[in-house]
Amino acid sequence: MKTGKSRYVALFMAATMLCIMTVSCGSGETGIYNRIRHHTDDIKVIDTHSHMHFPGEYGDHEFSLYHLIAHNYLLADMVSAGSPGYDLNELDTITPEDFWSKYGKALDYCRSTSYYGYLIRGFKKLYGFNEKEFTPGNIAALASQVKEKNRDDAAWFDEAFNAAGFDLMFLCTSRFTIPLDKKYYVVSYYVDRYIRQAARKPAAGSELKDMYLEASREGYTLKSLDEYLGFCDHMLKKYIDNRGVCIKNGLAYSRTLYYEDVPYEEANRLFARPSAGLSAAEAKKIEDFMFHWFIRKAIEYDLPVQIHTGYFADNGNTLENGYPLKLNNLFLQYPKARFVLFHGGFPWTGESAALGKMFPNVYLDLVWIPQISREKAVQSLDVMLDCVPYNKFFWGGDCNNIEGEVGALEYGKDVVAEVLAKRVKRGLLTEETAMEITDRIFRENAVELFKLDSFLQINAE
Ligand SMILES: [Zn+2]
Repeated sequence: MKTGKSRYVALFMAATMLCIMTVSCGSGETGIYNRIRHHTDDIKVIDTHSHMHFPGEYGDHEFSLYHLIAHNYLLADMVSAGSPGYDLNELDTITPEDFWSKYGKALDYCRSTSYYGYLIRGFKKLYGFNEKEFTPGNIAALASQVKEKNRDDAAWFDEAFNAAGFDLMFLCTSRFTIPLDKKYYVVSYYVDRYIRQAARKPAAGSELKDMYLEASREGYTLKSLDEYLGFCDHMLKKYIDNRGVCIKNGLAYSRTLYYEDVPYEEANRLFARPSAGLSAAEAKKIEDFMFHWFIRKAIEYDLPVQIHTGYFADNGNTLENGYPLKLNNLFLQYPKARFVLFHGGFPWTGESAALGKMFPNVYLDLVWIPQISREKAVQSLDVMLDCVPYNKFFWGGDCNNIEGEVGALEYGKDVVAEVLAKRVKRGLLTEETAMEITDRIFRENAVELFKLDSFLQINAE
């Protein structure tokens, strides 16, 4: 016979067991969340946007925690908090004590932000870093772990890529010099410079640089608009032959998203004049014409068009330039094009959702929203799923290095699972459909829209 005390202990244990069972596999929101979140770890992820660089591309630096902070978004929050920014040259030699005395205060002020949180998440996944915060006591060990792993950066990239569950990454680039490994990448062709440089021809007789140098190597002198378009078409085809699956416009960083429909004759007349004599409005007209031209080519070559909308990286820009509604004319004019709006147009995520709902040719990429603001991502995705069919969403990480990209993926999975679990709990979705939505966001939608089957087959062989 049990004593009063042991009966109490037994009852307490039974209640605890029941509680644990409810949490891990029951019908409560946490149980549902855990199952959906667990399911996302079985998905072979297609990452629709990254800027991956190997450490060697940053110059002759050793690669440690301090470099990773500098080359991820967290540095922008530290600058926003009042930090003077980084001197990259000191990062190889700085001691943890000096690092902390110089940057620790600003770093601490970022403890509440998602830029801080996603990076911690990446370190947890890849380095077993189980702390919630960076402290003077834990950064030294983490810094040497990062340094050690990145000594053989190619092997580390492969290990981390697979550990995180990636299958294919989009590399956003306009450089042919990058080491493009077919195991990991397809290319998102960054067309900004081809649009901008049409209005920035070098003066006669001056030294050729950048795109104009590239053009001369490819046998183009770019004296007329027709020749310029011929060169752009040549490069576009070259990209398609080099695993190019879409084009990307990131020009909101330097101009408005409104692209007027400028007639060929007018663009031709403006192009023929020396660029130095063009007014800002005239230069804009040439750029506008060029993006319309690229959209028509994207339709001809069956390439989706990714567009940066909303918030900007770094610490200072004209936010209004990213307002997604400024693209409305393009969606009406080109029903056969497939436009993918990036970043939910943060903070105008409602406007982006409305565009995704109204236009069959507008898709929404959740890329970077969870890192800008995890909570805004939760609210926004909830609203987006209320109004936009779920075959129209993608996910991308938008980081420069694998540690950041993995943290972004972990954060993205957390956000998607949280939103879906809440909807299942409220009876708005079945759990089965919620699982299907995760498959769609992190993989299947991208395979369909960007026609990735042939690239995935190569990987499977
Ligand atoms: Zn990007």
